[in-house]
This record gives sequence, structure tokens and C-alpha cells, in this order.
Amino acid sequence: MSLVIRGALLPEGKRDVRIDDGQFVAIAPSLDSCPGEEVLPAEGLALLPSFANGHTHAAMTLLRGYADDMELHSWLSTKIWPFEAHLTEEDVYWGTKLACLEMIATGTTFFVDMYWHARATVRAAVEMGLRAAVCGAFFDFGDAARAAAMRRQVEELYSQSRADPAQVRFVVGAHAIYSVSAASLQWLSDFARDRGLILHLHLSETQKEVEDCLRAHGERPVIYLDRLGVLGPHVVVAHGVWFDPRERETLARHGVGVVHNPVSNLKLASGAMDYVALRQAGVRVGLGTDGCASSNNLDMREAMKTASLLAKLVARDPCALPAAEALALATRETAALYGLEMGEIAVGRPADCILVDLDSPSMVPAHNLVSNWVYSGGQVRFTLCGGRILMRDGVVEGAAEIRAQARRCVARLCELAQCTR
Ligand SMILES: [Zn+2]
Repeated sequence: MSLVIRGALLPEGKRDVRIDDGQFVAIAPSLDSCPGEEVLPAEGLALLPSFANGHTHAAMTLLRGYADDMELHSWLSTKIWPFEAHLTEEDVYWGTKLACLEMIATGTTFFVDMYWHARATVRAAVEMGLRAAVCGAFFDFGDAARAAAMRRQVEELYSQSRADPAQVRFVVGAHAIYSVSAASLQWLSDFARDRGLILHLHLSETQKEVEDCLRAHGERPVIYLDRLGVLGPHVVVAHGVWFDPRERETLARHGVGVVHNPVSNLKLASGAMDYVALRQAGVRVGLGTDGCASSNNLDMREAMKTASLLAKLVARDPCALPAAEALALATRETAALYGLEMGEIAVGRPADCILVDLDSPSMVPAHNLVSNWVYSGGQVRFTLCGGRILMRDGVVEGAAEIRAQARRCVARLCELAQCTR
């Protein structure tokens, strides 16, 4: 069914926009509506591309605020992993639904997920109408039996994914170089490359990771992966805080994508990724939030603004990562790392977009729409994914049940993990 968004403000002025079969098919100062077509009056609303979240762990919404203000490795081993040990598929399903609810409310229509019970993540994303690229969590800690079991799980998830709707794609996940053996990293990379899939892993998140890699392998993380033959245009890594110039050049040469997670990196004091240096080296870059255990929310607008501010600080240059580039980074460039064409309000592109309230105090005055959206922000009123309205005037169907079920899951998990609160 087709839809006309009437009178929305775009950076180039007021426009009518027709959506048909999931795509933008016409954009003009004025369009006549056809009989039977839905008309969405959008006077007082800005039409902007929706976000792509290039790295998260959606169900970790259940750990939002559970353990803050701790060092990464003790945070993981004393708080996060013990809590996660009790997670069931049902918990991941409701945690992901809560994440989808938050993403829809804040204007994200595509997310990349790495977590346990990946099939529950797929089910939740499909039901909520979002696009997702989903991988399981692969850890073997050098244990051969565990590696064999995890490889079987990858094969199984891949074969199950063959029947999924087109809005979901399967990604091969590896947790990190310190939790996955060299042999498994090679196996996962070959598995992905042979099937035209993306391999996604955390890389160079902390200085400790680099030091441990130097101690264990005598080389830095990117050089280690290059020697293993793992790198290529099918690889997208998350974080990339601690690359040196040789590593940046190696990533660019192999066409590897890097997803920047500025809020998580700042909160865990992991470090400040050098965005400008990565770009100047020719590396493809995207943006993500990381999971709610570390970033506390899934708000890509916050990630976008933070990325811009951090890039300016690191480069000591207020011109670094300007507003329009930050918006492109958070939308089409992140989507492109995973082979999606969304992220642009243009004829022939997927109709993934948001309508933002121009009466939000922070959107007034309207000197520059993109600047307001990136640096100031406003209330998202409508979110559309592939032309389907997922949030209508601030309302997402089923929101109350999702909140109630997520609270129920957390109460049970807390009892099992013996939370103190
Ligand atoms: Zn992560």
C-alpha cells in the first residue's frame, strides 16, 4: 500500500513524499494523492533518515543500570557474565523487544546484534518490524570441545536463518581475539567469506587488550588478525579505540569496516577512538551504541552527537566530524557496512525514516535542520521502516506489555543472580 507524507520539512525545504512498496518513489514540493492511498499530514514535522545502529547487544536492556562505574574486565567478570549465566531464550526475547521499543522511539530502524539465544533476537526484531543483522556470541577460550560445539551452533543458526524474512540477515560473530582461539577465528572468517556473510567481532577496545595481544602473540591485534588471514571486506569490527598507524593502514588495505561506539568507550573509559585518523587512512567507519549494560541506552542521536564532540576533541579541531557528516555516519554509512541501502531520503531508497517534532523547544529556531537534529535533538513522533509505520505520533503498539514482561524477566534474573537491589 502506498503512503504520502504531506508537507514535511526536509533540509532542502517543505516536500511531499510518496512511499510505495517499501521505497521512496517520489519527492516533490507538491504531490497529488491517489484514491485509497494513506495521507500522513506532516506539517510541523521534519523528515529525516532513520538510524542504523552498527553494534549492540539488544537484550542487555535487561542490565540497564545494573552495574555502572566499573572497570571493563572486572565489570564483565564479576557483574555482567554472572547475570548473563541465568539468561533464558525468553529473557532474550523480551529484552530484545524492550530494545526494539526503545530503538523505534528514538528513530532507529536497523540494528546489528551479537548475543546469546540469537533466534529469540530474530523473532523479536521481526515482530517489531525492524531490520536486523544478528549473530550469536562465540567464545571458546581456547577450549577445543567448546570450539566444536560453538562451530556447530554457527552452522545451525546459519541454516535456520535461511528461512528468515528479508528484513533480517545472518552475521557470523566472534566475541574478541582474547576469548576466541586463532583456529576458530580462521574458521569463522572462512565460513563468512565462503557464504558472502559479514564477520563481526570486538577489536582493540581497551589498552589491556592490545598489551595482552602483544604479550601472547608478539604483535598488535590488527597485525595478528592479518597474519591469521582473517581480514577482508567481509569483516566489520566494533570499537577500534587503540589502533596505531600501521593497523589503520592494514584495515584500509583490506577494506575492513570499524563501528565506533563513543558512549560505551567513554563510560568504560576504554579510550578515545581517533575518528579523523581512521578516516584519513581510508577506513570505512560506522556508528553504534553497544549494549545497554555499558551505554545505558540505545539512542543513536546521542551516539551521533558524542561521536562528533569526541572527534573534535581528539583532533583538537572544531571542524572535525561536522553535523552533516555525523548524520551520514549514523545512517547510510553504518547501513552500508552491512550491505544495506537505507539511510537517505531519496527516490529508489528504502523508506526508512523518522518525523521529528519541529515544535520541540530544542528544534527552535530552525537556522539549520541538520545542525539542530545532530547537536540539539528533538522528539521523534513517527518511525517508519520500509514504509511501515512502527511508531505513530509517539505510540508503539504493545509497548505496555513489553515493559511489563521485561520487568518480570529482570525480577526473576535478579533473584537468581542475588542482586542487592
Ligand atoms: Zn559490544
